[in-house]
Amino acid sequence: MSDESDPIEAGLRTEGVRVTRQRLAILHVLREATDHPRAEDILARAKEQDPSVSQATVYRTLSVLEKAGTVLRNEFDGAGARYELAEGGHHDHLIDLDTGAVIEFHSDKIERLQAEIAAELGYEIEWHRLELYGRKSGRRR
Ligand SMILES: [Zn+2]
Repeated sequence: MSDESDPIEAGLRTEGVRVTRQRLAILHVLREATDHPRAEDILARAKEQDPSVSQATVYRTLSVLEKAGTVLRNEFDGAGARYELAEGGHHDHLIDLDTGAVIEFHSDKIERLQAEIAAELGYEIEWHRLELYGRKSGRRR
């Protein structure tokens, strides 16, 4: 399962993070995930691969990966922390208020507009986070 050429694993080793079998299982779960899983979802999926993965390992590993810049922790309003790999480029999120689904989007128009607004205020944007909360059009409350 260990692959020396994997850039994430290589990056972790560079950061001095010990790449254990449990951490590899957690990384694998994050790679396969398309749904911005919660820590408990990651635990359940990682256990399927390696039953020795514990809740403590998941929390510790997520925190280590977050510090190493490998994992992004999203604190969506009312949805708790949800995780994703940092690779794949910048995107923003739309959160479905009924299902909790997280939909990724990227808009050059919005990116440009934000840069313009910041520039008008005399700033350059270092980073931003944009979250939209909505319901599917026509869905009843
Ligand atoms: Zn995302």
